[in-house]
Amino acid sequence: MLVYKTKVNLIKRINNIMQPSFSLGFVPTMGALHKGHLSLVKSALANNNFVVVSIFVNPTQFDNSSDLNKYPRSLAKDIKILETISKDNILIYAPKVEDLYGSKVKSENFNFSGLELSMEGNSRPGHFDGVGTIVKRLLQIVSPNKAYFGEKDFQQLLIIRKMVDSEGLSVNIIGCPTEREPNGLAMSSRNGRLSSKEYREAAMIYEILQTVKHKFSSEDIPSTYDWVLKRFNNNSLFELDYFQILDTESLGPVKEKKPNKKYRAFIAAYIGDVRLIDNIDLN
Ligand code: AMP
Repeated sequence: MLVYKTKVNLIKRINNIMQPSFSLGFVPTMGALHKGHLSLVKSALANNNFVVVSIFVNPTQFDNSSDLNKYPRSLAKDIKILETISKDNILIYAPKVEDLYGSKVKSENFNFSGLELSMEGNSRPGHFDGVGTIVKRLLQIVSPNKAYFGEKDFQQLLIIRKMVDSEGLSVNIIGCPTEREPNGLAMSSRNGRLSSKEYREAAMIYEILQTVKHKFSSEDIPSTYDWVLKRFNNNSLFELDYFQILDTESLGPVKEKKPNKKYRAFIAAYIGDVRLIDNIDLN
């Protein structure tokens, strides 16, 4: 399988293979591929003639240099995994930082209409400007018809939809469900850094989200918050970063449930220095 290291070569190849009636799918990733990424690639292959998978650890979305340095990188293995899905219809774009940023590794400033203020945006300053910058650049290079993003990073999915809309990019953004480990833990490139004990305990995050979903229909919101905080306080392995129940569309805070509105619960927590996130639809 050919791996394109530069945007010039990638664009040349795309122009060669694409015909007017063809559809091009795009799956941006930071590599260390797992079944979650592969579910996006499989959806893209099922609905497009060709699929570009980018593998690029984007420096501008990390607010913490140690997290950036520790981020797993395994290009050779990633290529092998993608080859098991399709040798002919996937194009891998794995550039160096300079190919995307030139000599200025800097984010653009975006207006995400407040979607960026809570959760990841609050805990990781500058994160979403970094995400917006790289996704906009990649979409401009690849020019796909459809781009695939995971609901595991639900706030990111909404922010990308907003960015695509306000920048007038013509691409259909497709959200894909979260793939999970057998114990319910959301698959993540960071899971490989968990010890086997931490991996077992990390199942608690999704267990809590499922219970929150159950409680949401019968209990008030403040008592659900209290219950979640207690669960985390009682487990010394975890440090809770946030638990939030938010409006699914605006990501605004929710005091009372209203009919015809949709809600989602979100958790970010550390086990040791590994930060894990997950969310669940409450309706
Ligand atoms: P990342 O490599 O972490 O930047 O993720 C690349 C894409 O894969 C993003 O759209 C993520 O939301 C998506 N993704 C990551 N983990 C999962 C998962 N467990 N299930 C589904 N999609 C995922």
